[in-house]
Amino acid sequence: MQSQQQQSVSVLGATGSIGLSTLDVLARHPQRYSVFALTARERIEQLAEQCRRFAPEFAVVADEEGAARLRRMLADSELPTEVLWGVEGLCRVASDPRVDTVMAAIVGAAGLRPTLAAVEAGKRVLLANKEALVMAGPVFMRALAASDAVMLPIDSEHNAIFQCLPQPCGGLTAAGVEKILLTGSGGPFRRHPLDSLHHVTPDEACAHPNWSMGRKISVDSATMMNKGLEFIEACLLFDAEPAQIEVVVHPQSIVHSMVQYRDGSLLAQMGNPDMRTPIAHALAFPERIDSGVAALDLIAQGRLDFEAPDPGRFPCLRLAREAMATGGSLPTVLNAANEVAVEAFLEGRLSFTAIPEVIERVMGSMPAVELTGLEAVENADSRARALAAEMLESA
Ligand code: NAD
Ligand code: MG
Repeated sequence: MQSQQQQSVSVLGATGSIGLSTLDVLARHPQRYSVFALTARERIEQLAEQCRRFAPEFAVVADEEGAARLRRMLADSELPTEVLWGVEGLCRVASDPRVDTVMAAIVGAAGLRPTLAAVEAGKRVLLANKEALVMAGPVFMRALAASDAVMLPIDSEHNAIFQCLPQPCGGLTAAGVEKILLTGSGGPFRRHPLDSLHHVTPDEACAHPNWSMGRKISVDSATMMNKGLEFIEACLLFDAEPAQIEVVVHPQSIVHSMVQYRDGSLLAQMGNPDMRTPIAHALAFPERIDSGVAALDLIAQGRLDFEAPDPGRFPCLRLAREAMATGGSLPTVLNAANEVAVEAFLEGRLSFTAIPEVIERVMGSMPAVELTGLEAVENADSRARALAAEMLESA
């Protein structure tokens, strides 16, 4: 029997790094949370395993063939799970009236429609899928303002900033905030010789020193485009001026970000680099629940370092600032070109240092247009993808 307080959760991207961490936290609190839906594009066997463990009402996969496979895998079980597929299935489980909370943890632009569906249906939306917000900025924020949805950031930096702000905040100026310090580790190539950076392999790029993550975000961390996307994400989420956000390299990933106040106070949120902390925070907010993450041992940690990012090494930071300064469709274009370039790098078709080059060329060939609605977002996204793909062909 479902108790009155029990929250029903849809986990979009359940087989990914964030999805697995989410299920780990949910499994620690079976009285508090039930799983309504689980979704995945690949790793159907793992999804079937998760269905057996969490007995969701729905499971959603990418296509009809995947759905047939999953149904066969679940055929001998007594599960209540109905199998759906495609974007429609994702939107359905993100907006079903029986759902309270949606974990948006699909990677990339593919998460946009289901995340927006959750926002429009007034859910508590736990936003890991930063690309959805970055690509659709004003459209996304308008949808949020027009709905009863509550959005809580899962990205560890934004979750940290949220925790360092008064709640409710009422705007940065009213809260006495001068600056947001967005920390980033600098990734695996912070000290790598610049002249051999173009030889690095996908596996080297994905070997993040502190965090274990999906491959796309791992490459983004290595180029620091992840911090660029997070800079745009922070401008949108906290209604901050670009000049109010400073990126600080912090190699240990213990301070997850900071907020500087008018009176000289600098508030930081710290913890071991484990995404279960922001996930547990956002799931239970304003309460606190156990996440399975060990307390930070500052003595064992010993030291925390901070340095300015090197603009020559990380051109993606500049590209993200330029995209945000111009606004309109430019962040959409930045995100789309990045997704295409990162995929090409992961498949061995593009060198690491060519990633920002492709993005800059695509941005330079697409004048910014106003994002009037979802259609404008999707047009800019597909045009930028096509241009980036053409550039890869001709490279
Ligand atoms: P991942 O690659 O490990 O997992 C992605 C999930 O999305 C998988 O379940 C996959 O099957 C699903 N998926 C991928 N493409 C899809 C598509 N086209 N349609 C439907 N489902 C699809 O990625 P991740 O590291 O878990 O990251 C997920 C999101 O969270 C990303 O936006 C990332 O930037 C963000 N994020 C991740 C971390 C982290 O520590 N991993 C931290 C902060 C933010
Ligand atoms: Mg982050």
